Amino acid sequence: MMAVYLDMETGTERECQLVDYSRFALPQLERTYGYHEFRPGQLEAVNAIVNGRDLLAVMPTGSGKSVCYQLPALRPGTFTLVVSPLRALMRDQVHALRSRGVHAALADSGITPGDRQRIYQEAIEGGLQLLYAAPERLLSHEFLEFARRIRIDLLAVDEAHCVLQWGFDFRPSYMRISRFISLLPHRPVIAAFTATASPPQIPKIAEGLDLVQPIRVSTGFDRPNIRFDSVHIAPKARSNYILGWAEHHKGSGIVYCNTIKGCDRIAERLSDIDVDASAFYAPMSDERKAKIQDGFLKGSPRVICATTAFGMGVDKPDVRWVINNGPCESLEAFYQEAGRAGRDGKPSRNVVLWNDRDFDDWHFRLKGNAGSAIEDPQARGRAEQEAFDRLESMHGYCRTRSCLRHAILSYFGDQAPETCGNCRKNRKTDTVTKTPAGKRKNGTAEPKKNGKKNGETIP
Ligand SMILES: [Zn+2]
Repeated sequence: MMAVYLDMETGTERECQLVDYSRFALPQLERTYGYHEFRPGQLEAVNAIVNGRDLLAVMPTGSGKSVCYQLPALRPGTFTLVVSPLRALMRDQVHALRSRGVHAALADSGITPGDRQRIYQEAIEGGLQLLYAAPERLLSHEFLEFARRIRIDLLAVDEAHCVLQWGFDFRPSYMRISRFISLLPHRPVIAAFTATASPPQIPKIAEGLDLVQPIRVSTGFDRPNIRFDSVHIAPKARSNYILGWAEHHKGSGIVYCNTIKGCDRIAERLSDIDVDASAFYAPMSDERKAKIQDGFLKGSPRVICATTAFGMGVDKPDVRWVINNGPCESLEAFYQEAGRAGRDGKPSRNVVLWNDRDFDDWHFRLKGNAGSAIEDPQARGRAEQEAFDRLESMHGYCRTRSCLRHAILSYFGDQAPETCGNCRKNRKTDTVTKTPAGKRKNGTAEPKKNGKKNGETIP
């Protein structure tokens, strides 16, 4: 089968030939997962790995990334190491794999050093097919010692965009993955996965992880079941908008706020009108967070008011709507949050509430913060500029008068029609100013500036 790989010398893509292993992969898919066919991109990714090629897969959240490395990991006599920054996700995956009869384990700080040693020993003796670990663990003395005593056939790197030094999700530990690989007696096949990478970022990810002419798999970024709306609205009018929204839109929802105070305030006001809601943010105790997450998975609380801390690794397919109470600092961050709606493929909604002041605030926050961990002043300046550029892309999305889906997809380098027919800018019915009787109290008062029509009803 034909595939494309990234020529690391020139940064261009070139065609190559791979052996097609679908004859083996498909029965394994049925046996292990009970699926009768691959989802887009999965077979291409599996084939790349089994052909012994590095892989860089850009696949949206919910597209079944894990199958791409788990299937090759099931080849008898092989051992796969999975690196992920998301502890909850790793735990869930290990649990799911074990329930399917796969020998998988997680080496994290939640277990005793003695138990970790027992896991390592089991792996060395060939009793383990997959081991999950956080990137911070790789270069620890105990782990390195283990990794040098075993042949790692496949190293899967989840959330690979965390390696981007100027990226919004940068994790310094990701920069040390290539060092870890260089210390191994045998170089494994490396398969990197991310849900968010714009075209210029792709070669940078490959470089950051030291991939060798990786096969490129990209399934496209479109989430056709999500309808996007961008609502220009003053901050003081937003609470009412959200309250009205949560009352009128059934199903589980997430309200992303930029501050902890905002989360608390909205959650409280929602509770006041009998909407089952909870705030959620990083400084809460792990126990409290776990309780809220588990509850949300089961449907209570129905609504979570969260900072970005919520959602990474929370696998809830039936989130029906996501409201961004204020814009994000980048389209990458925004699309990750918006993309938590409708992973089951059913009709879902995203609304971003914004005005220009939000962007002034973001600009202020990014200035001095972006790249502050970088020592070299030139590199720091570049990091700051890139952060401003990302912010400007988010601003452009909010402001655009044309198709929102088109704006997102073209940002991520996907081909997209000029209009999608399923976003705010394309639906005349949503631009009318009339408000159904009885809804006004929950509707929003809108700033009327520059004589433009800014009236907004809850779509
Ligand atoms: Zn559209």
